[in-house]
Amino acid sequence: TEPIRVAIAGHGNLGRGVEAAMGHNPDMQLVGIYTRRPPEQLRPRQPGTPVFAMETQPGHAGRIDVLILCGGSREDLPRQGPEYAALFNTVDSFDTHARIPEYFTAVDAPAKANRRTALISAGWDPGMFSINRILGEALLPDGETYTFWGDGLSQGHSDAVRRIPGVAGAVQYTRPVPAAMERARNGSRPALATREKHRRECFVVLQDGVEPGPVREAIVTMEHYFADYDTTVNFISAEELARNHAAMMHGGFVIRSGKTSANTTQTIEYSLKLDSNPEFTASVLVAYARAVHRLHAMGQFGAKTVFDVPPGLLSPRSAEQLRAGQL
Ligand code: NAP
Repeated sequence: TEPIRVAIAGHGNLGRGVEAAMGHNPDMQLVGIYTRRPPEQLRPRQPGTPVFAMETQPGHAGRIDVLILCGGSREDLPRQGPEYAALFNTVDSFDTHARIPEYFTAVDAPAKANRRTALISAGWDPGMFSINRILGEALLPDGETYTFWGDGLSQGHSDAVRRIPGVAGAVQYTRPVPAAMERARNGSRPALATREKHRRECFVVLQDGVEPGPVREAIVTMEHYFADYDTTVNFISAEELARNHAAMMHGGFVIRSGKTSANTTQTIEYSLKLDSNPEFTASVLVAYARAVHRLHAMGQFGAKTVFDVPPGLLSPRSAEQLRAGQL
């Protein structure tokens, strides 16, 4: 059979991760990378991969089976998602949880009108964590679900610290509180406040001559980002930031604990420990690209989420092979 022809739209961390993931999926072929920047500025992982200007895309519809959208959730995907769902089968990792319903509607209409399949909000959260949350709730209806994130680097919180005057560089780690995780696991169904579940730790490089005290105060009191958490602020050198804090590690836990009869507690736990958040997210997107190609061949058009995709469609093996070896 012919390989599934996949292309990448947007060459940031996630786009580079998709390139890496394609190397592990021989039933797929990377046919191009599309970018809004001048194509000659990009350095693909495989030097032979063709790079195109984004605006050439409409003319390439016949060459691509699935386009993986690797733009940012805040600025890029709200425009790119609906636009490309009219032209291609797509997969994206839109992760603004509160806006997923409206994003779904915006992508669904152009995809249906043009008989395309568009899988939105894949990745790990939303994505694998979402699947594990609904599995836990369906299997243990009398129970409680807990999501913990970390240890991990939060891009949004790191950006917020970098915007404080006097800060030359910064990263922020989200860390789950072990005592809270133990309480979630042991079946006591605690009500856990924000501050009890996670703590935040910042590593900050100051500009020359800047006093640490006011910067620390600006961080720990920042509304929506740090005010509701116990936050530790460490001041370090630019060299140490570059040496020890460049990796985009992340991960977390979904825990469902419930009862099947009065004295019988059951606990389900799913966990991820990721050296690279974008490379793992990209691996999920590539597996869903295979599923999207198959859903499209079955005539299932419109927007889809991970809840709509049977797991067998993610595997390169056929349903028959999976029944024989994997059940
Ligand atoms: P990013 O590196 O900032 O890239 C976003 C876009 O910015 C790229 O597609 C690229 O588009 C452009 N870009 C990248 N580097 C650039 C540079 N040096 N100069 C100018 N433009 C540049 O973001 P990312 O880390 O790949 O993350 C993308 C999205 O993935 C995030 O917004 C997040 O929502 C999502 N995500 C989801 C999950 C999940 O679990 N669902 C997990 C992680 C991330 P062009 O090539 O067109 O310029």
